[in-house]
Amino acid sequence: MARIVMKFGGTSVADLERIHRVARHVKREVDAGHQVAVVVSAMAGKTNELVEWVRTMPKVTGASSPFYDAREYDTIVASGEQVTSGLLAIALQSMGIDARSWQGWQIPIKTDNAHGAARIMEIDGTEMIRRFEELGQVAVVAGFQGIGPDNRIATLGRGGSDTSAVALAAGLKADRCDIYTDVDGVYTTDPRIVPEARRLKKIAFEEMLEMASLGAKVLQVRSVELAMVHKVRTFVRSSFEDPDAPGMGDFDNPPGTLICDEDEIVEQEVVTGIAYAKDEAQISLRRLSDRPGVSAAIFGPLADAHINVDMIVQNISEDGSHTDMTFTVPSGDAEKAISVLNANKEKVGFDAIQSESGLVKVSVIGIGMRSHAGVAATAFKALAEKSINIKAITTSEIKISILIDGPYAELAVRTLHSCYGLDKS
Ligand code: ASP
Ligand code: MG
Repeated sequence: MARIVMKFGGTSVADLERIHRVARHVKREVDAGHQVAVVVSAMAGKTNELVEWVRTMPKVTGASSPFYDAREYDTIVASGEQVTSGLLAIALQSMGIDARSWQGWQIPIKTDNAHGAARIMEIDGTEMIRRFEELGQVAVVAGFQGIGPDNRIATLGRGGSDTSAVALAAGLKADRCDIYTDVDGVYTTDPRIVPEARRLKKIAFEEMLEMASLGAKVLQVRSVELAMVHKVRTFVRSSFEDPDAPGMGDFDNPPGTLICDEDEIVEQEVVTGIAYAKDEAQISLRRLSDRPGVSAAIFGPLADAHINVDMIVQNISEDGSHTDMTFTVPSGDAEKAISVLNANKEKVGFDAIQSESGLVKVSVIGIGMRSHAGVAATAFKALAEKSINIKAITTSEIKISILIDGPYAELAVRTLHSCYGLDKS
């Protein structure tokens, strides 16, 4: 007997038939004797529709400003999850399973006051656990929502029901958090680019964090951070498979990818996966004065403008008085970044700004890199053989990121994927 949290995203609960299939997945685990809490998203597209209504209302009244009350935004957008939690509870009940729905405020899932992007502060799972133990009742929880210190509904930011599920698993001390989604696991790279990409059996939290933030959009990044902090074993698997197919209920070895502590990964590969992020822009400041405070003068105002800076490369000065600084931002922010820098030109002190958009960052990820030499050299050699020019490089303990021209993205991903032998199982 185990305690599990099962989470189903929007495409998995997109209509009544699919909610029925979700109920069959839940029934399988209940029949196996497990204690189950299910977290659901809104039906696919529902949250977008609700957000659109919120944005349109001020236009309908002809208001001079497009702004609206974030607390009312939360009231409205949280309703999508309320609907699916009730529907799934009915589906389960009609299959003879004791189940009830829970809204965030009923549990309660307490959040901070940041309406629209709230953070979970505390979850009280006492009553839910009592009902597992005394009644064998399934808890169906509306994802994406909690209750703020102002006693009002708060939502966790788009994609937030992943975070609801991981936080609930931590709060209930669950043995595992199963994330059912429209893909059947985490792959060595994007299978649309590399058909030979393999599903990973296991991936370490840190690696998943890199994969998730680099554009492998399986899980909300914040949910992976939370899983890492609380060591919640998180399992990514498909909701579209037949719930009763052989092996689906195998608790120790189900089909999918386990995101876990690195200690749990026995056979460590040097490289685990290749990720990429499109639409990066590179900005270079030429002949920047080389003195204390220059970086702060550049990146402070960019941070104040909410521009997310990624790679940063500063050269060692040749003459002791001037240097060059290059960094990347999402292409959509490039113009804004340049105008912020120009506005601060006096304070920063540089000769010229150069920029280029439409670049791609490809990254090689693996915890095994910590203990192996030559991983970066292998990438550089492979890219050179394909005549792909490298514009900038940054590294961390478990990652090498390489900036290249956009049109070479797919070739680079395929090249890197095969040079580390990830094509072969
Ligand atoms: N329904 C919310 C959204 O679309 C939360 C989620 O699905 O994770 O962002
Ligand atoms: Mg999602």
